[in-house]
Amino acid sequence: MKIDICELMNRRLDRVDFAYRFDPRHTDAECVLLPEDITIPDDGISVCGSITDTLGCMTFRAVVTVSYVTACARCLDEVRETLEFDFERMVLTEKIVSNEPFDEDEEWDGELDDVLYVNEAKVIPDADIMEEISLELPSFVLCDEDCPGLCPKCGHRLADGDCGCKDKKEIDPRLAILQKLLDNPE
Ligand SMILES: [Zn+2]
Ligand SMILES: [Zn+2]
Repeated sequence: MKIDICELMNRRLDRVDFAYRFDPRHTDAECVLLPEDITIPDDGISVCGSITDTLGCMTFRAVVTVSYVTACARCLDEVRETLEFDFERMVLTEKIVSNEPFDEDEEWDGELDDVLYVNEAKVIPDADIMEEISLELPSFVLCDEDCPGLCPKCGHRLADGDCGCKDKKEIDPRLAILQKLLDNPE
């Protein structure tokens, strides 16, 4: 989203509100990699907030809500979750071209992290929001705190009921063929 802040820059307003949704696949934010097992639906990201100007100092504040689909870390069942966090950035109209980088090997392009830069009177926050989402998303999700996971023998999802594996006796593989004949006497 490009948020027009002309009215802020020429001091006709001291606040611009916005509320929109975006698809991470249709922004310049697609370079941000999300964990492979997490899917965000087309309109899964909602951004609601304002840019305010306090005596020439502009701040971007928004509540970001993300719906996503992932798999339970224990039983691999589909889990639908919502992530919500506050996103706040200073808005600068010019790049700060000054100090040397802290690390000499690092290339310094005069850009600060945690700052949104104004481009042709517009603020374009989605790439920064995506970056924040990738940091905020949990790496470990469970369908239920007490999810018993999968049966290590047959792979059955134990939350769906007992598969009976743990009651079966361990059979020597050489005798398994006999057991089969006993189970199906034909
Ligand atoms: Zn589970
Ligand atoms: Zn089993």
